[in-house]
Amino acid sequence: IEQTLSIIKPDAVERNLDNEIKEIFKNKGFIILKEKKIQIEKSEAEKFYKVHETKPFYNDLCDYLSSGPIVVMVLQKENAILENRKLMGATNPIDAEEGTIRKKYGISIDKNSVHGSDSSENAQIEIDFFFKD
Ligand code: UDP
Ligand code: MG
Repeated sequence: IEQTLSIIKPDAVERNLDNEIKEIFKNKGFIILKEKKIQIEKSEAEKFYKVHETKPFYNDLCDYLSSGPIVVMVLQKENAILENRKLMGATNPIDAEEGTIRKKYGISIDKNSVHGSDSSENAQIEIDFFFKD
């Protein structure tokens, strides 16, 4: 049993898709252990996405993630990290498979509706980032 961090990004929350997306996770057997709707500062987005700091899209990405409310969740399931990545689909919604969240809701490579941790190490770091008290 693994835990992973999921974020419903501003483009999806803005379109009131957060409940619909949460239902998809639950229907696929994920348990939402923790969740909160928050808006983060750009400085926090920069810290969260630090791994991408040398990428050309880094500044826009951090502006975007801090541009409106997001829903952050700890999801639990067997193989949660990989299962969530599969359910999300490819980073660019154009490349995402039928039945994935990004295929269904993603607008563009930047406004792709959801984030999911990509490894067990990063899952722990990202869960602590949002939920360590
Ligand atoms: N991103 C972007 N332009 C790109 C690549 C990525 O705006 O050319 C954004 C996109 O929102 C993506 C995030 O940066 O979700 C993190 O990129 P990563 O490669 O880690 O994709 P993910 O793990 O989210 O599929
Ligand atoms: Mg990533």
